[in-house]
Amino acid sequence: MAASQEIIEQLALIKTTIAEYNYQYYVLDNPSVPDAEYDRQMQALQAIEQQYPELLSDDSPSQKVGDMPLPEFEQVEHEVPMLSLDNAFDRESFLAFEKRMQDRIKNDSEISYSCEPKLDGLAVSLLYEKGKLVRGATRGDGRTGENITANVRTIKNIPLLLRGDDYPERLEVRGEVIMTRDGFIKLNKTQLEQDKKAFANPRNAAAGSLRQLDSRITAKRPLLFFSYSLGLVENEQYPLADSHSGRLKQLSEWGLPLSKELDVANGAEACLDYYQHIGEIRDSLNYDIDGVVFKADNIELQQQLGFVARAPRWAIAHKFPAQEEMTIVQDVEFQV
Ligand code: NAD
Repeated sequence: MAASQEIIEQLALIKTTIAEYNYQYYVLDNPSVPDAEYDRQMQALQAIEQQYPELLSDDSPSQKVGDMPLPEFEQVEHEVPMLSLDNAFDRESFLAFEKRMQDRIKNDSEISYSCEPKLDGLAVSLLYEKGKLVRGATRGDGRTGENITANVRTIKNIPLLLRGDDYPERLEVRGEVIMTRDGFIKLNKTQLEQDKKAFANPRNAAAGSLRQLDSRITAKRPLLFFSYSLGLVENEQYPLADSHSGRLKQLSEWGLPLSKELDVANGAEACLDYYQHIGEIRDSLNYDIDGVVFKADNIELQQQLGFVARAPRWAIAHKFPAQEEMTIVQDVEFQV
């Protein structure tokens, strides 16, 4: 059945709304609505596009990653695009993802997944040449990011030189920059004592801190980096592991920080156990997470499955139920 005029207008309205939310969140680091509201709009958009595939266009927010980089920064072209992740908001949609994976491999053996907390910060790419950190960049719109080298160099757990001498000549490490929870509380206290505006949440504070034009400000902020994947790899003198978890272990041997909560699980039930476990310890972590990420651990399987427009087919972010609405501290003005 062809889409009615009403559906077409509804779709246009949702697209404009999401584009505005994206601008506030990604460009200004100043979200205007809670993530739960954003996710509701995105799900409504995807439902219409699924029902009326003729209405799906390349410029739809459902096909896009992030937003344009800020013009104040030098631009960086990502040689390997930095994509996003598909989401599962409940057990059923996670199980549907797992079944699709299982159907694709066409055999009965359980799939191994790398299980990772979904860190709620900012995606960052670090480029090492001959073991030396030469560039740091934001994800931006996935193809073009912002050059933030001077800022990432101030983050204390990012090595400026890799350990050992057995690493690829060019190695791009991807991960998340987060602000610790206790650091965030202290920072807001200082901001208020100095009659400055407080930050809305650690994610905003991390994003705003990292996208400073003066790296001396970034240096004072309690930021940490955790690696979760490799991007560009060239001239491997040292063979890379054939599993994602094995490659993360290699990153750790080269001195890059990993989250302590990483694990590997076989099959859907073990993944759900991990989801529950991380949900239980979530409040005790010193950083915000908004779910867990499952990635097919076998690199060959990842390569076989490939990507769709904005996300890999071999991974899913299983989100925790929305903690609804934004952190609003009464009578406090927020800034980024
Ligand atoms: P996403 O949060 O849906 O998932 C992809 C991102 O997860 C990656 O780019 C990476 O930065 C991060 N990540 C954290 N841990 C990871 C791990 N272990 N492995 C791989 N990636 C990991 O990202 P997105 O596409 O940037 O944004 C969509 C989400 O952002 C929405 O669902 C919403 O929650 C939020 N958002 C909110 C607003 C708003 O106005 N409130 C606007 C835009 C986006």
